[in-house]
Amino acid sequence: MSSDNKFDVIVIGGGPGGYVAAIRCAQLGLKTACVDDFTGKDNKASLGGTCLNVGCIPSKALLESSHHYEQLNHGLENHGIKVSDVTIDVPAMIKNKDDIVGRLTDGISGLFKANKITSFHGHGKLLAGKEVEITSNKNKITSISSESIILATGSRPIDMPCAPIDNKNIVDSSGALDFDKTPKKLGVIGAGVIGLELGSVWSRLGADVVLLEAQDTFLPVADSKIAAEAKRQLRKQGLDIKMSARVTKAVSKGKKVTVNYEDSSGEHSITLDKLIVSVGRRPNTDNLFAPEAPIELDERGFIEVDELWQTNHPGVYAIGDLIRGPMLAHKASEEGVAVAEVIYGEKPELNYNVIPSVIYTRPEIAWVGQTEQQLKAVGEKIKIGIFPFAASGRAQALGDTSGMVKMISSEQTDQILGVHIIGPQASELLAEAVLAMEYSASTEDLALTIHAHPTLSEAMHEAALAVDKRALHIPNK
Ligand code: FAD
Ligand code: NAD
Repeated sequence: MSSDNKFDVIVIGGGPGGYVAAIRCAQLGLKTACVDDFTGKDNKASLGGTCLNVGCIPSKALLESSHHYEQLNHGLENHGIKVSDVTIDVPAMIKNKDDIVGRLTDGISGLFKANKITSFHGHGKLLAGKEVEITSNKNKITSISSESIILATGSRPIDMPCAPIDNKNIVDSSGALDFDKTPKKLGVIGAGVIGLELGSVWSRLGADVVLLEAQDTFLPVADSKIAAEAKRQLRKQGLDIKMSARVTKAVSKGKKVTVNYEDSSGEHSITLDKLIVSVGRRPNTDNLFAPEAPIELDERGFIEVDELWQTNHPGVYAIGDLIRGPMLAHKASEEGVAVAEVIYGEKPELNYNVIPSVIYTRPEIAWVGQTEQQLKAVGEKIKIGIFPFAASGRAQALGDTSGMVKMISSEQTDQILGVHIIGPQASELLAEAVLAMEYSASTEDLALTIHAHPTLSEAMHEAALAVDKRALHIPNK
């Protein structure tokens, strides 16, 4: 193998895990290659993985567009603003989303060039002897090798055999980002993060949306008080959320799709224009390594790694959606940075206890740390402070007063153990809680911190005060 094909590090996968790992490796002076197989709408290589191409960014672009439309239609009367004849041009909205994706994915290519990272477009497969074979349409392009290889191939939607994707009427999350018009009736299987975000987009634009959720608990990953408020608010907006609903069959015919499902009241059949299947994602390990280079997987199909992200194969690491933990872009990126530093010879640590989670519905739902139900289940003695946005001057001025901040701390030490927010700009407010928890802060620390007035962040301050029943703008019970 020529020296051109030998690298210090090869990254397979160019998503937020892989591209960030590649940039950090290059910053550390390592000769780095990144192999990614994603092809954009224009049939060209498009770096950024699921997140930039068909995940975080395009979904947030559509959430913003649909929010503006909804605000103009229903959200401004209280401000004395009357707007009529508001229309939505769905193809223009989709083009705006595609333009944003194009700018950001081109930006990653620019960063690769600036950092002198060699980029290969094709499918990477780990062979014995730390060789990576790169193919395109099953034709071999080249082989490269390295002593250190980072697997960062991400995840893909889980299929439901009873509701096969036809990319016409039955789509996965990627298809749901590209409807050419608002479906009149839209079904969503799975009321998880994707179902709620994309269901909200199309509901705001006028679709009748029904979500069919198999479990009987809504958003079990969230704090139960916040989840109950979210369910109430989202139902009020018109999302028809059906719990304990098991889809038995979905058949696409002509321009319609018929869905049969069962719930506690019996069997039902509904006819829809589109159906989104969003029942979770699974790691992309198909054809990733040859039998001679076996990589150990856990019982759920994720790649097993040790505390320094190394697989059973010395020098081969894995990060992001491929390994245990939440499937989140920022978790993948932080692992990418950390693993680059491991390869460079450092021993970085990542605090998995303070990974923020956000659901970008309106109201936004955001949390970090543990929920009340998790803490009570392990017998932890806790204190709780809750501050409703209705008592926030800034939220009143915004005309967006739904929701609350819920702060949980240890009864013994007052250390913050979890912060759970539902309400305006919850995603941005959460950063203060993440930083506080990273520094093992107490609610007293937050209570002593001066917050600007009038800001939504005062709700964080008040929730910290409420933990010890000394909130200033609500009665303390
Ligand atoms: P990916 O981003 O999946 O990247 C993996 C890359 O590897 C892809 O380009 C893939 O094509 C490529 N690849 C796969 N196999 C091979 C191979 N053998 N050879 C070469 N290349 C290969 N997370 C958030 O934190 N915030 C959000 O708001 C958010 N919104 C989301 C919305 C949607 C609709 C979806 C679907 C996901 C969302 N996520 C969000 C999750 C987020 O996208 C993932 O957690 C994140 O992209 C994982 O990063 P990754 O680098 O591990 O993998
Ligand atoms: P999810 O796990 O959030 O939700 C899937 C839902 O489908 C669950 O509620 C589950 O009970 C339900 N379900 C499973 N099988 C079912 C069935 N047969 N019938 C009906 N319901 C069924 O998964 P997702 O929404 O597909 O998202 C995948 C991943 O992407 C998530 O882990 C999430 O972390 C990530 N993501 C994150 C964001 C964000 O950070 N804002 C946004 C989108 C996606």
